[in-house]
Amino acid sequence: MTSNSHKLHVMFFPMMAHGHMIPTLDMAKLFSSRGAKSTILTTPLNAKFLQKPIDKFKNLNPGLQIEIQIVDFPCVQLGLPEGCENADSFTANNNSDERRAMISKFFLATRFFKDQLEKLLETMRPDCLIADVFFPWATEAAEKFHVPRLVFHGTGYFSLCASYCIRLHNPQKRVATSSEPFVIPDLPGNIAITQGQILDRGEDTEMGKFMNEALESEVKSSGVVVNSFYELEPDYADFYKSTVAKRAWQIGPLSVHNRGFEEKAERGKKASIDEAECLKWLDSRKPDSVVYVSFGSVASIKNEQLTEIAAGLEASGTSFIWVVRKNTGDKEEWLPEGFEERVKDRGMIIRGWAPQVLILDHQATGVFVTHCGWNSLLEGVAAGLPMVTWPIGAEQFYNEILVTKVLRTGVSVGTNKHAIMGDFISRENVDKAVREVLDGEEAEEMRSRAKKLAEMAKAAVEEGGSSYNDLSSFIEEFSS
Ligand code: UDP
Repeated sequence: MTSNSHKLHVMFFPMMAHGHMIPTLDMAKLFSSRGAKSTILTTPLNAKFLQKPIDKFKNLNPGLQIEIQIVDFPCVQLGLPEGCENADSFTANNNSDERRAMISKFFLATRFFKDQLEKLLETMRPDCLIADVFFPWATEAAEKFHVPRLVFHGTGYFSLCASYCIRLHNPQKRVATSSEPFVIPDLPGNIAITQGQILDRGEDTEMGKFMNEALESEVKSSGVVVNSFYELEPDYADFYKSTVAKRAWQIGPLSVHNRGFEEKAERGKKASIDEAECLKWLDSRKPDSVVYVSFGSVASIKNEQLTEIAAGLEASGTSFIWVVRKNTGDKEEWLPEGFEERVKDRGMIIRGWAPQVLILDHQATGVFVTHCGWNSLLEGVAAGLPMVTWPIGAEQFYNEILVTKVLRTGVSVGTNKHAIMGDFISRENVDKAVREVLDGEEAEEMRSRAKKLAEMAKAAVEEGGSSYNDLSSFIEEFSS
């Protein structure tokens, strides 16, 4: 509960992408469970993903307050296809240029929300607004009504610090080739990266300008709320607070608050597999033996790459669950003939949406092959899993370095190119990386470090833990 009689009212406004909406829902539930009232703003189609878990949460916790407030997003009027209310609408498009153009149009179209946000701030008068980094106009809107605006990036301290240092010093402009490693200036830990692994922000493009607006609006905001925990990345939490942001509160990992079967199963979309069947299958496997492969909610993987993954998993001889995002009209030409029949005793493909946290938390799951989306990475950390890192885009290459070089709980599959549809990795490299994390002395060491981190993750959110305390300070400050 808040320490004074005023009940804190927090308004949340997530970008419409599962990687942003899932942690926002977790965050809203967390604030409500600590006595606040939470209101989440979202569009009609996205509200459908949130309503059921919210109803369940309220049934389980009578009296706790959490509501959805619908905002309009007239896709066609905004130049987008009908019903295009979530970033996952573009995954079916296999043309990189078209995909990039659509994503940028989608992000820019969210400016349409500004007037609606102002009206809601005026009528609802929340104590603070936690709005997505991709909504730069939210700072100005909140200022108008004297509501403090907090930024939610959806990523961790390490990548926020690394991208800050790169923006400041532009070391990538001083290397001869895109594959030549350079040390990121100022960043603690002597961390090297290549130009090919960082996002070219395209300063002069509309998207580049938009990203600059996002950064400027952050400077004017009241601070940043981070889904991470201090013990995971202490040097970077300290660096961020001393050098990068005005204020920051770390309150994660948010996913660990989902403790029951249904809460874990219903994150994002409805799973494309019967969750109980999936758990039964995992029950039949030995502890730490199953490799779980997923590239998150938006990445689109080329057909020739899917074929290599299939061949690599087959060669590795391990048990696996492999999530493949289904494209409309996909004839599955990527699937090697007879593959499923040959691996039926040890592997399964989930076509569409997996109940990821249920799978990661199962004792049979032993390795997470991940694209290093921040939510997936934290879910893997909280489950105590060593990882094979396979970044595709966004800030995922920084997250990979955190896992492989700082935490030393995983190995890289060897991607070197920040590309909208991924770099190409051979079946031999898939097989090799999986084996390296599954068996042997080094694998054991990685697993043991990963298990320790999982304990720290859970302790951070318990009463008296670092994230628990940071949330208490946040509630205290914004309630008064
Ligand atoms: N997720 C899931 N099932 C899937 C794919 C993704 O539950 O089949 C969830 C995953 O657990 C995570 C989120 O969707 O919470 C994806 O966020 P992340 O930051 O990992 O990656 P993004 O999708 O943003 O690239």
